[in-house]
Amino acid sequence: MRYGEIGFDLEVDLSRGSIDRVETDPNDTRLFMGGLGTNAKIMWDRVPAETDAFSPDNLLIFSSGLLCGTAAPGSNRTIVSTISPQTKLMAYSMMGGFFAPELKYAGYDKVIISGKSEELVYLWINNDKVELRDASHLKGLGATETSEAIRRELKDPDIQVAAIGLAGENRVFFASIEQGRSSASRGGIGAVMGDKGLKAIAVRGTKDINVADPVKYMELCDGVLKYIKFRGENPIKGVPPILQGLGSPQEMAIVDEEWHTTNFTWGNSRTRRKDFWTHEIEQKWKETQENVRTRLISCHNCPMKCGATISVPGLPTYMMKCYSKLTYTMAAFSDLDFGFKIAQKATEYGVDGFSAPQAMAFGLELLEAGILTKEDFPGMPDDNEGRFYYLLEKMVRREGIGDYLADGVYWAARRIGKGAEKFDHNTIKKHEQLPLKLGMLNPIYYLMYSTGEKINITQIEGQFPQEPFATRELREEFVKDWFQVPDEKFKKYYVDWEPRGEMSNPYYPTVEASCEIVDWMEKMHYIDDALGMCAGLSSFPLKPPYHIHNYAEFVTAGTGIKMSKDDVWKSATRTRTLMRALNVRRGMRRADDKPPEDHWRKRFPDLEKQLLDQYYKLKGFNQQGIPTKESLHELEMDFVADEFEQKGIYDHG
Ligand code: SF4
Repeated sequence: MRYGEIGFDLEVDLSRGSIDRVETDPNDTRLFMGGLGTNAKIMWDRVPAETDAFSPDNLLIFSSGLLCGTAAPGSNRTIVSTISPQTKLMAYSMMGGFFAPELKYAGYDKVIISGKSEELVYLWINNDKVELRDASHLKGLGATETSEAIRRELKDPDIQVAAIGLAGENRVFFASIEQGRSSASRGGIGAVMGDKGLKAIAVRGTKDINVADPVKYMELCDGVLKYIKFRGENPIKGVPPILQGLGSPQEMAIVDEEWHTTNFTWGNSRTRRKDFWTHEIEQKWKETQENVRTRLISCHNCPMKCGATISVPGLPTYMMKCYSKLTYTMAAFSDLDFGFKIAQKATEYGVDGFSAPQAMAFGLELLEAGILTKEDFPGMPDDNEGRFYYLLEKMVRREGIGDYLADGVYWAARRIGKGAEKFDHNTIKKHEQLPLKLGMLNPIYYLMYSTGEKINITQIEGQFPQEPFATRELREEFVKDWFQVPDEKFKKYYVDWEPRGEMSNPYYPTVEASCEIVDWMEKMHYIDDALGMCAGLSSFPLKPPYHIHNYAEFVTAGTGIKMSKDDVWKSATRTRTLMRALNVRRGMRRADDKPPEDHWRKRFPDLEKQLLDQYYKLKGFNQQGIPTKESLHELEMDFVADEFEQKGIYDHG
């Protein structure tokens, strides 16, 4: 009997049209837990290093997390893994909503898609009955339209559908997969789904999930719910309103956007507008948001309400995910009203809300700089918002200049040439990043931003505050009930961190302390991504209900696999190391672990080198960022070291 997990995956080969239910190895659960961990193991075993994103040999894995579908609040993430067309590395984007629990109720932990279908199809999983169905009538439909059409066709409103829009069909490198009130957006996984000829996966499940120790498990869940209530009643003081509570930043509930609009950049991630936020803007945006927001909504089994249904007059109702309302607004130097309108179209087309606006702003910056000319934009309106709508249409259809921009800023700059590369100034590992340009280097953030392979906003945020509170008294107050820390030393690191002077950025936290803090932040992300837990209740906000001290209890009571805190920590280390190994096998090295040149106004090359050196040492990587034989042996992954040996990776660096 398997507990927590189902113990079976669904293997679908689109080239052959075959569908198989395959039992999984419980030892992989012990080593990698599930979700991202076991996805990474499958990608290592079955996708050779040379495989192109658009090869039939590339896999597209939809995985639930180990605890998804159980009573654990917020455990609902679907982890989608494949080779990214944009970064050429392994992408592991994830989505909330309802898909992963439904998949487990249907009797599967993962759906593993291989091959390619010649005709557009969709996969229909109805408990034990699974079939590929013709999707020619869905061609060109938006992602939400597709979900609704499938539910109508199959006559069941409770079916959960993950679908691509036109962007995925046309292999736009930053195409997303949309589902419920969520989407898996980063890394171009929607383009891989489109390339495979798969328009959607629809799933309906009515079975149970077994839990090893139900009494203990319910006690743990109850503790989490009580703590969520406590945190709701006791917001963190001294941080912007959007960061005071739990969940994803409460963008749909809160309109205080001073922090984002003054700290994040506008246009093609260049311009800071420190004086933008005024009382008048706040009033206007409040009115806009309250007029279009019809209802606050949650993902499966979660008391938080991070999303909202949005009804703009004249447009179909759609679900808004936290920050997209501002990415379009700020890229176009426009207004919140515009952000809500264009996001509806972008959601239907299925594009990533960070990459798409930056690619459009990049195209317009090239026009202003004379690298592109008016002839490259035939028929484009003159008004700013009209230009963004025009470019969105061109990109998702891959028409004219849109075909270049649809490859993302990094690749578009290289295809266009003529100096366009200079305008690619906000990518890491060939992928658009948060639109940020800052003053002073923060050593923790430097490491998370440079070395993270998730290519996701949450990779740079964690349970350690991003900056020190103004006074020592406030910091001492903050650490008093900070029981989530894995070790008491983290409290001292925080209390000693000053906004100015000797104990401030960039030289404090020290190199060693920064690496330890990053290691903690990163581990929590990897644990969440294995268990299918929403980062909004664990690795993302301050003082969350899930932490290293209760996760081991959840895993043990849920699965019956006895895991201590150290075992859970080690499993996360193993997955982080395997992710690194996968990307090293595909050519990633130290030179790729770097932020954009102008990300901070002041840079400190010697310190940055020391930070990276120490980070690699702590992680068990050599100075090229390659996991060493010794660390791989310690993690029971000699199979990785053997392949590195065979391929001469250690010899050539
Ligand atoms: S915290 Fe928010 S984003 Fe996370 S599961 Fe709950 S509702 Fe969804």
